[in-house]
Amino acid sequence: MFKDLFQKKRKYATIPSERLERSGGPSEGERPKREIPEGLMSKCSKCGTIQYSKELEKNLKVCPACGHHMRLNALERIAVTLDPEGFIEFDSEMTSVDPLQFPGYASKLEQQRSKTGQVEAVITGQGTLGGHPVIVAVMNFEFFSGSMGSVVGEKITRAVEEATEKKLPLLIFSTSGGARMQESILSLMQMAKTSAALARFGESGGLYISVITDPTTGGVSASFASLGDIIIAEPGAVFGFAGRIVIEQTIRQKLPDDFQTAEFNLQHGQLDLVVHRKEMRSTLIKLLELHDVKGGF
Ligand SMILES: [Zn+2]
Repeated sequence: MFKDLFQKKRKYATIPSERLERSGGPSEGERPKREIPEGLMSKCSKCGTIQYSKELEKNLKVCPACGHHMRLNALERIAVTLDPEGFIEFDSEMTSVDPLQFPGYASKLEQQRSKTGQVEAVITGQGTLGGHPVIVAVMNFEFFSGSMGSVVGEKITRAVEEATEKKLPLLIFSTSGGARMQESILSLMQMAKTSAALARFGESGGLYISVITDPTTGGVSASFASLGDIIIAEPGAVFGFAGRIVIEQTIRQKLPDDFQTAEFNLQHGQLDLVVHRKEMRSTLIKLLELHDVKGGF
């Protein structure tokens, strides 16, 4: 099907000449796929529909055919959520020191950095949302599967403390494969550390909105992601602690098809709302207004 589509395209698609030159120009016998510049088309991983990447980006990376919410990295998430101006990043240079000298960890970290252009799996900072100042933390699944090591935990904790001190609402977008095993117990400790900081924030009267994006699992799901005063998820997002296979093997039972999806979690009381990506920003602004936190709480 993929091949047919590109062959059909060849009849009428015009490709700018400089792109052809860059790819070495068309030649007989080459696979048709090479004539389509890299990244021009995208395929939905759920329904297989192929569409222009630019159109998909305009649609906030939600498949127009089936509504599947594709993953956004942290920078994309910030761009579609916050007001365009005025984001100030915190602790942008903080990096892990590989405290256990775990074999291969340092080089893997380096790989992740060059692949993503980011230094860790979370970006934290202060911005505004519909004019309301907020402290935000946005996790990045592209970096090390969004795993939480000591830097992720420390940056989140500092963001929570900043929100406590400045009396600003807190917004965390989670996505994570769990704790970063290369940092062992130091990773697991971050669950307690972030939760303790959030407890102090809650005691001071702060509003914390947790947004679950696909997938949010392991130590992150079992700590700060589940501690929001309001917990929202994107449609279809996987949200749970252990993976489906592990649970099925343990309890020796087949789990429902929609197990751990946002919709399943909503039905079972684990979430407050499931919100389409196109309505996420306006929903968050409405919640901030409802809680009247413009001038601090
Ligand atoms: Zn689709």
